[in-house]
Amino acid sequence: MTNTVKNDRAAWFCGPSATCSNLPPQRARIWRLVLLGAPGVGKGTQAELLVERLGVCQLATGDVFRAAAKSTNASLTPAMAAAVGHMRKGELVPDTTVWEIVRERSSCLRCRGGFVLDGFPRTIMQANALQELMKSEGLELDGVLNYELPTAEIVARISGRRVCEKCKAVFHVTGRPPKVAGVCDQCGGKLIQREDDRPESVKVRLETYDRATSPLIDFYRNLGKLIPISAEGTPDEVFARTTAAL
Ligand code: AMP
Repeated sequence: MTNTVKNDRAAWFCGPSATCSNLPPQRARIWRLVLLGAPGVGKGTQAELLVERLGVCQLATGDVFRAAAKSTNASLTPAMAAAVGHMRKGELVPDTTVWEIVRERSSCLRCRGGFVLDGFPRTIMQANALQELMKSEGLELDGVLNYELPTAEIVARISGRRVCEKCKAVFHVTGRPPKVAGVCDQCGGKLIQREDDRPESVKVRLETYDRATSPLIDFYRNLGKLIPISAEGTPDEVFARTTAAL
């Protein structure tokens, strides 16, 4: 069964002061997943498909920072303004800032709709903090989907990626083109290239992934949570592998 009404994710985007307008219905099976993989492997696209299929919420830390980048600097806390600066250069935001943001939004981890964490955790410190928080809440991850793809293919995917300015849907100029060039199929919004998808940021992001995030593969393998998935092929092919693995 697919999910036709998408949660507005107000609590994720705006923090504890906001309430989601359309809470997902209670389901027999609540999925709590983490997506791992280098930038550009298609985690965001798989997250969207998982949202449709499982009714979970996509909790992407990158979306929170991108939303902050759009607000005026005066309305940001100093930590958030610094985070936006790191993001623009393709660097990781410091762990303390990222963790503050996730901890503030811990109600999203308890949500009856379940979740797919996309872009978090990114370091061993973040992964340990998440484990501890989940344990204290009596929650457990069902699995960590690790999407694998050769670097040359990753670079090709990132350079053609376009996202909707309004609803954040992800397209690719050749791999997943919109029906009308530059226009989102889902909401009619304008498709743009993410600031951090520009070549100068991409190099930094891939190096950072190897250094800081790839150790999470062993971390979750040791916990018995790792589910490796080849990210080669079309989004539907990758999604078929994902659902088969789950
Ligand atoms: P993403 O969309 O997940 O690639 O995130 C975009 C950018 O936001 C990253 O390149 C980082 O600058 C920042 N960011 C997002 N999530 C995290 C995280 N968990 N830890 C550190 N920085 C993050």
